[in-house]
Amino acid sequence: MGHKMKSNYEKGIQREVVVKNEMQLMFDAVSVNEAFARVAVAAFVAPLNPTLEEISDIKTAVSEAVTNAIIHGYDAEFVRENKSDGSNLVYLHCIIEDDVLSVEIRDKGRGIEDVEQAMEPLFTTKPEMDRSGMGFAFMEAFMDDLEVLSELYQGTTVRMKKKLGTTPWFRKED
Ligand code: ATP
Ligand code: MG
Repeated sequence: MGHKMKSNYEKGIQREVVVKNEMQLMFDAVSVNEAFARVAVAAFVAPLNPTLEEISDIKTAVSEAVTNAIIHGYDAEFVRENKSDGSNLVYLHCIIEDDVLSVEIRDKGRGIEDVEQAMEPLFTTKPEMDRSGMGFAFMEAFMDDLEVLSELYQGTTVRMKKKLGTTPWFRKED
């Protein structure tokens, strides 16, 4: 059962949160873990009875963010020059508060020099790898809220929120 706490999600409005659930995962930055991460998040939100479309949106957004952490955050050049200990990890943190899912995907990789530019549709620093520069645009389109924080050579944090529009998983206790 979720415990009661205050949420600031709706700007300025303080209200009781009756359902809260949280999970964290940490995994190696290797491409097999893209599928693992999106399935894990989908399984985590399952109790909220998401629609197929909502699940698909969430999986796509998670997949884009995790892929970015793996191929851009820990790209070969960065790993060679800055990381000899081999601990290239992606951190996934999910919180459900009522019908809102918050997902954070974080890496300790190369970071992004200009976040605003990176988030523009079609902008990519890896055109040679057949990247289309649409990852952030998809995250923005499929989630309700997207925030990207990054520091060069420190890493990148992507925070996304999505409000799920369906049945609550259990009744509020009065
Ligand atoms: P696509 O996602 O369409 O395959 P892409 O990954 O290049 O292409 P975006 O996901 O929109 O496009 O990312 C844009 C750019 O932002 C990337 O090319 C990269 O330079 C930078 N970037 C994104 N995520 C990270 C990250 N975690 N670490 C470092 N750089 C990143
Ligand atoms: Mg991408």
